[in-house]
This record gives sequence, C-alpha cells and structure tokens, in this order.
Amino acid sequence: MPADFAGLDPTAQQNLMAALDELRRNRIRFNVTSAYRSPERQAQLYADRATNPYPVAPPGHSDHERGRAADLVLADESQRDAANRILAKYGWSQPLPERDRVHYAFGRQRSQTPTAYGQSPVDMAKQFSRALGDQLDEAVGAALFAA
Ligand SMILES: [Zn+2]
Repeated sequence: MPADFAGLDPTAQQNLMAALDELRRNRIRFNVTSAYRSPERQAQLYADRATNPYPVAPPGHSDHERGRAADLVLADESQRDAANRILAKYGWSQPLPERDRVHYAFGRQRSQTPTAYGQSPVDMAKQFSRALGDQLDEAVGAALFAA
C-alpha cells in the first residue's frame, strides 16, 4: 500500500514535501512507507503487529491517524543523522529514535520556545498537555506491543 500523503495535515504535508526535496538534493535515498492512516488501516496494522518489526500503536492512538506522522526508511542507515537534521528544520522529528527509528512526527520538538511558536500561554499549555498525552499513548502502545 503506497503512503497516503494527501491525508496528512496540510501544514505537516507541506513541510514534509519540502524536507523530502532537501533529502533528495543531498542524495539521501529514502522510501516513505507510511504517512496518513485511516482508523481502519491502523486497526489492521495493530491486529498484524506481531509481524511488524516496529511498534504499532492501538487504533485511535497514532500520530499517523492524526495526519502528523510519516515512516521513513533509508537506503543507507548511516545517513540517518544527516536526514534528521534536514527533517528537523521542517518540524519533523523522531519521538522514539531507539525503538522506532523510521517513525517521524510533525510539530513535536520539545526544545522550541513559546516565542518560537508565537503562541499564547494557554495555547502552550494545551500543546504541552497534548504532547504528554501522546507520550502516554505511545507508552501504552509500546507496552501492549511488548505483551
Ligand atoms: Zn510511524
């Protein structure tokens, strides 16, 4: 099944396309194996998770379903750091570099400051609580996967 870019959040999609262009210009060869996933697709992957080398979040708990995740396989894994530096410029980062190195999420860099985002404190609080929720979701997903 080809990756569904059209289903991504528009800002995430724009930034991903720009990052992928820059990867190509830097001769980093890659394959995006998954982007947006419907809840049905996530449920199917979750049901088949025993055959997946990477963790799979339960349906309703994946950034892929929110249109803010993409899985990037590299032809040459030694280019991962170079790829990460490029992706980070466009707001894409690895939430789980150890366990799920192909998985990138958009807009989740914790190092960015409120002024960098230009957001109100209320928005920042919402964002932090959402980020925490995501982490908990992934912890739950990982625990279920391990079981
Ligand atoms: Zn993923």
